[in-house]
Amino acid sequence: MSEFSISKLFRSELLSMSAYKVADAKNLIKLDAMENPYTWPENIQQQWLQTLKSCDINRYPDPEARRLSAALRSSNEISAQSEILLGNGSDEIIQILLMSLPANAIVLAPEPGFVMYKQVAHSLGLQFKGVPVVADDFSLDLPAMLLAISELQPSLIFLAYPNNPTGNLFDAEAIKQIIFAAPGLVVVDEAYAPFANASFLSEIGKYKNLLIMRTLSKLGLAGLRLGFLIGHPDLLVQLNKIRLPYNINSLTQITATFALNNGSFLLEQTQTLCAERALVFKALEALADIKPYPSAANFILFRSLRITANQLFDALKLQGILIKNLSSQGGILENCLRVTIGTPDENQIFLKAMQNILQTT
Ligand SMILES: *Cc1c(COP(=O)(O)O)cnc(C)c1O
Repeated sequence: MSEFSISKLFRSELLSMSAYKVADAKNLIKLDAMENPYTWPENIQQQWLQTLKSCDINRYPDPEARRLSAALRSSNEISAQSEILLGNGSDEIIQILLMSLPANAIVLAPEPGFVMYKQVAHSLGLQFKGVPVVADDFSLDLPAMLLAISELQPSLIFLAYPNNPTGNLFDAEAIKQIIFAAPGLVVVDEAYAPFANASFLSEIGKYKNLLIMRTLSKLGLAGLRLGFLIGHPDLLVQLNKIRLPYNINSLTQITATFALNNGSFLLEQTQTLCAERALVFKALEALADIKPYPSAANFILFRSLRITANQLFDALKLQGILIKNLSSQGGILENCLRVTIGTPDENQIFLKAMQNILQTT
């Protein structure tokens, strides 16, 4: 073989990136990844195992995932005028969306925001522009967004609603102005729809450039990897050309269809988590030197005002609790941490540990 150089093989953006890292949660109470902490009721589990027997694992999956699409349409009340596209998690949908853009495209999103928008944009050699949110309350800086839109003419804008990692819902009127001003696509990412009591789904007929992205991950099916995109058929017919034919595997199709058709237990779990979110928020608010931020998702962002986020994170881990430390992102997330809402027991253990650490540090 002639001379061979890694740095000449790959795109320069790729060489300067790092892979997305996931913390090891072994033997820890896992409150870092916005998972639903509950498993399935025993009788539901038994029924599910029965349905799995009918899965022809020797065959390729249904490339259109027709039964699953129908179940998603009915459980999400998606109108017949809209098309849907399924992805291996909404992460794959983000990738499909960005793969469809011209090579010189600019991707725009409020910052801090969901890290995969930037990660995937850079991995594809696209430009990413983050527009800082307002520091006090993480709301959209609408004038800054509109200015960035007019100057950069982004091909695609992501708006997470509610936003991750901040947990707040952006102002709906501001979002509408952004959709109206945008020259390209606007993707409203509703990953936390089950907890939010707010949605842009009913707006989809009004704006041809609006797409809604959802996922089953935060609802309680993170292990299945299923996300979906809803929008005008003219848009989705193009995006569907990029989707790999069998991207939703048979086990996911059969399991997600079963879960959605027997989904009342998931809704009950969601309601419990929302009630717990209110309790955890109050308890964090009552702690000295901790400032929690209001959340419409299944997690709460909070700031440590006295000891550093690193100290708090490490001390929690020593007590067997894993949350997410956002401090390394710096800027307005300095000394911020994010805790996922767990079971009532897990939440109490977390809050007790917080109290302990703050009293002794
Ligand atoms: C978790 C999350 C996703 C990714 O969801 P998957 O379907 O599990 O890939 C997308 N967007 C936001 C804002 C998220 O927080």
